[in-house]
Amino acid sequence: MPEIADIIRQTLAALGVSTPAEVTARFDALRAEFERDTTSARDEASWKSLRDAWLGRKSGVLNRITEQWLKSAPPELRPVVGRSLNELRAHVEQGLESLQRSIAAAAEKAALARERVDLSLPGVIRPLGSRHLVRQTFEEIERIFLSLGFTVVEGNEIETPYYNFEALNIPEHHPARDTMDTFYLDLPPGSKPHLLRTHTSPMQVHTMEKQQPPVRIIVPGKVYRRDNPDATHSYVFHQVEGLAVDTDVTFCEFKGTVEYFVREFLGSAAKTRLRPSYFPFTEPSVEVDASCFVCMGKGCRLCKFSGWIELFGAGMVDPAVYGFVNYDATRVSGYAFGLGVDRLSQLKYGIDDVQLFFQNDVRFLRQFP
Ligand SMILES: [Zn+2]
Repeated sequence: MPEIADIIRQTLAALGVSTPAEVTARFDALRAEFERDTTSARDEASWKSLRDAWLGRKSGVLNRITEQWLKSAPPELRPVVGRSLNELRAHVEQGLESLQRSIAAAAEKAALARERVDLSLPGVIRPLGSRHLVRQTFEEIERIFLSLGFTVVEGNEIETPYYNFEALNIPEHHPARDTMDTFYLDLPPGSKPHLLRTHTSPMQVHTMEKQQPPVRIIVPGKVYRRDNPDATHSYVFHQVEGLAVDTDVTFCEFKGTVEYFVREFLGSAAKTRLRPSYFPFTEPSVEVDASCFVCMGKGCRLCKFSGWIELFGAGMVDPAVYGFVNYDATRVSGYAFGLGVDRLSQLKYGIDDVQLFFQNDVRFLRQFP
């Protein structure tokens, strides 16, 4: 950009010119000066200062020439000065206008380039969650029993001792209560005692209170015990209770149901074995074992070289339980079972620490999409 003072000085020096040719030469020089200036204006701001330098009302080059040169030029030179001045003004105005257009076009092109969306770029991949392994096992168990005509019911995790113990044939001071170290709720004095259910069995009683036989239900849910957490114990764990009561439910149906479940859950090669056991609310009671699916019964570390793995407890409903729900024990019979969902998941997927189910470490969870 020329120093305006310089231009004025030059133009004023031209006052010494005496021929039209010298005037024209001086204006040609000014025109070249303007052309040089335009090459340095690349954006809106520098374009504005260029415009002010040449067309500004007070200090613009053209107005200064008009003021100081045209007015003081010798009369014989005024026509040629005036004409040259008009031509230069037209040239400057036109030049500025087209420069403004090309600056705007360049700015728009740059903006478009900046905002360009490349549709071929890979998208942002957001990690997807998945169902927890325990939830998957719940759903697998539910699928198997729904196919046998069972329905799913759910119940409260807070229970009274009556439903958690007494109505299941576990009176106070019964030794079975010791095996289920219980969380009691801290309630104001005088309140009825409440506890966190130690098994899903209370829903057996709730269901039979409301519904006459036939009853075929499973009860998935969380249960709570004051166990010390270790590789096989946790304060909270998961069960699926099962109950079938009707007028003609036999031990044979019970055994068939258990065998069907084991084959569906562990694979068609799995064999089932029932061992006598004891639970207060079933009589007779059994432990259900499955043939070891790792060694196929030959003996390995998982089955402690016995060839069998203990799966869950079950049995025919103790007739004493029917007394609590006004069922006629001479007319109805049934069976019940309690599946430990965590244990079954551990066995099926070879997980040696139940705590992994509760830590929610994604490196663990991702293995079970
Ligand atoms: Zn084995």
